[in-house]
Amino acid sequence: MRIYLDNAATTKMSRTAVDAMLPYLDTVYGNPSSLHSAGQEAAEALDNARERIAKCLGCPGKEIIFTSGGSEADNQAILSAARAGARKGKKHIITTAFEHHAVLHTLKKLEREGFEVTLLGVHEDGIVLPEQVDDAIREDTCLVTVMYANNEIGTIQPIKAIGGICRDRGVTFHTDAVQAAGHLHIDVKEQNIDMLSLSAHKFHGPKGIGALYARKGISLEALIEGGAQERGKRAGTENIPAIMGMAAALEEACGSIDENARKLSALRDKLIEGLSEIPHSILNGDAFRRLPGNVNFCFEGIEGESLLLLLDDKGICASSGSACTSGSLDPSHVLLAIGRVHDIAHGSLRLTLSEENTEEEIAYTVRAVKEAVEYLRGMSPVWRALISGEQEFIIK
Ligand SMILES: *Cc1c(COP(=O)(O)O)cnc(C)c1O
Repeated sequence: MRIYLDNAATTKMSRTAVDAMLPYLDTVYGNPSSLHSAGQEAAEALDNARERIAKCLGCPGKEIIFTSGGSEADNQAILSAARAGARKGKKHIITTAFEHHAVLHTLKKLEREGFEVTLLGVHEDGIVLPEQVDDAIREDTCLVTVMYANNEIGTIQPIKAIGGICRDRGVTFHTDAVQAAGHLHIDVKEQNIDMLSLSAHKFHGPKGIGALYARKGISLEALIEGGAQERGKRAGTENIPAIMGMAAALEEACGSIDENARKLSALRDKLIEGLSEIPHSILNGDAFRRLPGNVNFCFEGIEGESLLLLLDDKGICASSGSACTSGSLDPSHVLLAIGRVHDIAHGSLRLTLSEENTEEEIAYTVRAVKEAVEYLRGMSPVWRALISGEQEFIIK
């Protein structure tokens, strides 16, 4: 038995997406840049996929370019806006402290090149306020980049209001919508978005493919040179099977956003209710303004990694919000950003749902987490110090 609760890391491909890819892995193999009929067949498929993806975002196809995923789209959006800004002497960028590393590390690189980056703090509820953005914009600000939904704690940002402020103040606005696409409604025009990143494998599409929306008039710079593909903004023969899979997956997801949200948020709320019964636990991020499938808790006196291993033994695939996978013991920058202290941030657990999860799985997971937390606390010297009163609880 396996219960997969790590859908923010990646999702299982939907049957629709697999089926949409198969012909392009098999019989339709032309290169869209070739002039012969096999190439033209591929070129038509490419155009068709681009139009369908654009439709899901509310923009024309010519405002979409395909990338290798969310990270590449984030890199390209940010570097392009930075270069365009620098040409006008504008070298200030605004972002938040809890962005994905694809954004934060790109900005670090720009800092080394002389750009100045303002990291907006995030309130404990995991939401950035439009006023914070308004206050931070300066004469020399060239870009504001704020994620649509956070990948660890799932909180949803007031993107439309932030985009509106940026538009009024003449600053380019990019949003990393990798966690939002296919899960929350997107309309780039209505939401005042200049640039948006998405990635297929977060909405039941294939891995290694994503898209960058850039409004007409936004100057894009190629990260990869070598050909005229994607209007010269992204060289390399297009990954047609993956693009077809992404178009099918996005269409399917966008067609059932409300229905999926209803189903997932009901499961999510059961999970939150169950895990809240664990003493000295706290939900990370606002209880309602969060992705329908995201649950993220901290348990005092626990090591997140030990909890993950115990849950894996019980057949549950989960994640801890921390970056310990890289071998570092740094707690999650997202949890630190919302004000969790190091010791508490270390004891985190992220469970992210998909439409395939059932009520039985959720009930089993609640029991399993309760048992695992109790077991780990039973062995923990920190926990003993806490219950004996030697040390004070941080989570009451
Ligand atoms: C997964 C993720 C990315 C990276 O996308 P890839 O396609 O894996 O490169 C970027 N931003 C957020 C918010 C994500 O969740």
